[in-house]
Amino acid sequence: MSSFCCPHFQMETDFCMRTQADCVPGRPGCVLRNNSVFAIPVEQRLKEKEAEAARRTGE
Ligand code: SF4
Repeated sequence: MSSFCCPHFQMETDFCMRTQADCVPGRPGCVLRNNSVFAIPVEQRLKEKEAEAARRTGE
């Protein structure tokens, strides 16, 4: 196990400057996409993030 500090992460907004989207480690375009293994698959975390965003906007 190791820690990682991403230079593309905007802490104030939880935003990724590289992908121009919310930071979801392992998402397409992420620097961790092809070199890391995640306990929770990225597809599941992306779906959860989208559902959370939909709830926030009332859709
Ligand atoms: S999505 Fe990946 S590249 Fe973007 S800020 Fe998060 S860890 Fe960094």
